[in-house]
Amino acid sequence: MQSSPFSHLNDQQRQAVTAGLGQTLVLAGPGSGKTRVLTERIAYLVRDLAVRPYHILAVTFTNKAAREMQSRVEQTLGDPCRDLWLGTFHSVCARMLRREAAVLPFDSNFVIMDADDQDTLVKRVLKELNVNDKLYRASGVHAAISNAKNNLMQPKDYPRRNYRDEVIARVYERYQQMLLQSNALDFDDLLLWTVRLLQENPDVVERYGRRFEHVLVDEFQDTNTAQYLLLKLVSSYHQNLFVVGDEDQSIYRWRGADYRNVLRFEQDFPEAKKILLEQNYRSTQTVLDAARAVIDRNPHRTPKHLFTDRGSGERLVLFEAADDHSEATYVVDLIGQNMAGDRKAGSRFAVMYRTNAQSRLLEEAFLRSGLPYRLVGAQRFYGRREVKDLICFLRLVANPADEVSLNRTINLPPRGIGDKTIQSLQAAAQRAQTTPGAALLELAAKGERSAAFTALGGRGAAMLLDFARLLAGWMEAARQEPLPALFDRIVTETRYEAYLRDGTEEGEDRWNNVQELRKLAYEYQDRGLGPFLENLALVSDQDTLPEDVTAPTLLTLHAAKGLEFDNVFIIGLDEGLLPHSRSLDDPEEMAEERRLFYVGMTRARNRLYLVRSRQRSSYGSTEFSEPSRFLQDIPSALLEERGAQRRARSTRPSEVQASWARWETPVPAPRSPQIIPPPPPAPKVVQQQYRPGMRVRHPIWGEGLVVESRVLDGEENVDVAFESVGFKRLLASLARLETV
Ligand code: ATP
Ligand code: MG
Repeated sequence: MQSSPFSHLNDQQRQAVTAGLGQTLVLAGPGSGKTRVLTERIAYLVRDLAVRPYHILAVTFTNKAAREMQSRVEQTLGDPCRDLWLGTFHSVCARMLRREAAVLPFDSNFVIMDADDQDTLVKRVLKELNVNDKLYRASGVHAAISNAKNNLMQPKDYPRRNYRDEVIARVYERYQQMLLQSNALDFDDLLLWTVRLLQENPDVVERYGRRFEHVLVDEFQDTNTAQYLLLKLVSSYHQNLFVVGDEDQSIYRWRGADYRNVLRFEQDFPEAKKILLEQNYRSTQTVLDAARAVIDRNPHRTPKHLFTDRGSGERLVLFEAADDHSEATYVVDLIGQNMAGDRKAGSRFAVMYRTNAQSRLLEEAFLRSGLPYRLVGAQRFYGRREVKDLICFLRLVANPADEVSLNRTINLPPRGIGDKTIQSLQAAAQRAQTTPGAALLELAAKGERSAAFTALGGRGAAMLLDFARLLAGWMEAARQEPLPALFDRIVTETRYEAYLRDGTEEGEDRWNNVQELRKLAYEYQDRGLGPFLENLALVSDQDTLPEDVTAPTLLTLHAAKGLEFDNVFIIGLDEGLLPHSRSLDDPEEMAEERRLFYVGMTRARNRLYLVRSRQRSSYGSTEFSEPSRFLQDIPSALLEERGAQRRARSTRPSEVQASWARWETPVPAPRSPQIIPPPPPAPKVVQQQYRPGMRVRHPIWGEGLVVESRVLDGEENVDVAFESVGFKRLLASLARLETV
C-alpha cells in the first residue's frame, strides 16, 4: 500500500474510512482518531467514490469542530467543497427551516433566541401568568420545557399529572406562542421544528432523503432524541449513516443527550457494521491508565482497550493547595515557569474546571502575573451587556416582531419610555391584532396625526414615535447600506457611545467591546445582517475561542470536548465541585460527573495536573473541602503528590456536605425525568366569569377593577387595573381572584 492515500492510518481506521454502504458505527475511546476518520471518510467519498459534496451531510456539535473538519476536508481534496453541508445540528436545522419556511408557522427570517433571551422570555411568561417565581424558578421551568422539546413533545402533549405539570404546561404553551409571535425560535425549536417538518411532509423528507446520499455524525453519544430522529429521517432514503462516538464521553445529559442512542442505533440497524479503534494517538500511557482507572468505576459500560505507543510519560501531579487563592496561584506560577519566557508556548496549556465561576480567581492570578490567557465562554464577550444591547438593536431591525429585543432596546439609552408606555403599546398592538414592533412601524409611517398616536396619548406617544422613526430609518438603512454603516448609524442615533463612555475605566472597556463587535460586523459586510445574526446566535461556548491566540486556555470541562492540549490542569477536584453537589444522591448524575472528569483527563497529550484546595472562601467565610472521590480511584503509582498536605482519604463530615449548597455556582440544570406523553386532553369549554367594571380582589395586589376579559385558547384572560400595582393581565384559572 505504499502510495495509498491511507498509509498514515492504522488498519481499523482504514476499515472505517472505507466502510461500504449502509449504517456504520465507530465506537472508540478518546484520542483514537474518530474525528480524523470521519474527515478522511468525507474526502474518500468525494475523491475515490466520486460522490458529489452536494450529496453529503456531516454534523457535529460545535462550530469550531465543524470549521476544523471543513478545512481538513478541503486540505485533503484541495477544493473548497462549498456544496458540502457540514455544520452543527443547530446550523443545519436553521438552514433547512429557512429553506422550507413556506410550510412552517414562521417566516424564513426568524431570529434565534440565545439562552439569555430564553430566560427573559420565560420570566416574562411567569409574570404574565402570575406564577409565583419563588416556587417556580425560571431556570427549572425552562429546563422542563427544554426537556419536553428534546423529547419532541408539544405543549398540548405535556402530561398534566399534578399542579406543577399544569403550571409548566401553561407556561410552555404561552412561551411557545410568544416565540412564534416574535418570529423567533429557541435552540430546542430548531431541532423540534426540523423533525416535525420532516415527519409531517413526506415530499420534504423525500427531497432531503434523496439528496443526502451520505450522512456522517461526530460525537454521536451526545445526541438527544430529536437529533437521533433527525438523523434517521435524513438518512432514510439511502440508509448510509456513519456515526462515531464514545459512550464514556457522554456529558450532555442535561441537554437531553442520551448515550443509550448507541444501543438504539444497534437495535434499529441490526445490520450495521461496528468498528472499534484501539490505538490512542494523543496521550501517554500513564494518562491513559489513570483515566481508565477512573472510568472503569462506572457501571454498565463496555470496557475498551486503548494502547498508545507514545511511551509511559510522566506521572500525574496531584497538588493540594491550602486555599482557593493558592490553588489559582499554583497553576499560574507553574504555567509561567514552564513557558520560560516563551509567550508562544502558552497554547500548550489548558486549565479546566467544572463551573464557569471558577475562572474568576484564575483570571485574577493571570492578571497579577502579567501572563496572557484566553477564556472560553460566552460571558467574556457575547454575554457582555453592551454587546448584547447592540445585537438586540440589530435583531430588531432584522425582525421587528422580536419582542425580547424590542423590550430591551426601546428605552436604551433611557429615553423616557417607561413600563406604562410599553404596556399601552402592547395593548394597542393586541387590539390591532399585530405585534408591538409592527404597531411602532405603523406609527412611524402615519405620524402624529394617526389614530394610533391619539390612542396612545400624551408624552409617551411622542417618545414612542421618536423611537419608531429611528427603527424605520434603520430598517431602510439595512436595505440600502452595508452592515458596518447600519451599525454606526444605530450607535450614533441612539447616542450609545456617550451613554457607555462615562469617564470610568469600565465604560472604556465596554466601549472597546462595542468596537470589537463592529469589527465583526465589518467582516460580515458582504454577507449582510441575516448571516451576521445567525452566526452570533449559534456561537456556542466553545466557539468563542479565538483561533490565533497563543495564550493558555481556561475552559469548562464541558467546553473541552474533542480538544487536546500538551498540558492539562484540572482544578477544583473537591467533593461538591467535581463531582458537583447536585450529583451526590443521584447515581446517574454521578456517573455523568465521572465521565466529565474522564473527558478532561483524556484531553492531555503529555502532562496532567490535578489540583484541589483544602478550603475555599465563600462570601467572607471559609469552608473546608474534602478531596474528590474520583482521586481515590487513581492508582498511587501513577501519581506524584505535592502541596500543603498529603492526600487525605477521610470521609466527608455531614456539615461540610450541607455547606456546599451555599457557595455553589450555577451549573446546567439537571434533566428532569423522561416524560411519556399521555393521550391528548379533551378540549375545555371555559365560561367567562369576569366582566368589565367588576371589582375583584387579588391575594397579593388587593383590590382592582376589571377592564377587560376574554377567552383565548380556552383560557379566560382578565385585564385588571389594581390600585397598588397598576395594570395586570391575569389568567382567571390561576390568579385566585375574588369578586368583591
Ligand atoms: P475524542 O474522543 O477526544 O474526540 P478522537 O477519537 O476524535 O478523540 P482525534 O481527535 O481524531 O481523536 O485524534 C486524536 C489525535 O490523534 C489527533 O491529534 C490526530 O491527528 C491524531 N491521530 C489520529 N489518528 C492518527 C494516526 N493514524 N496517525 C497519527 N496520528 C493520528
Ligand atoms: Mg473527536
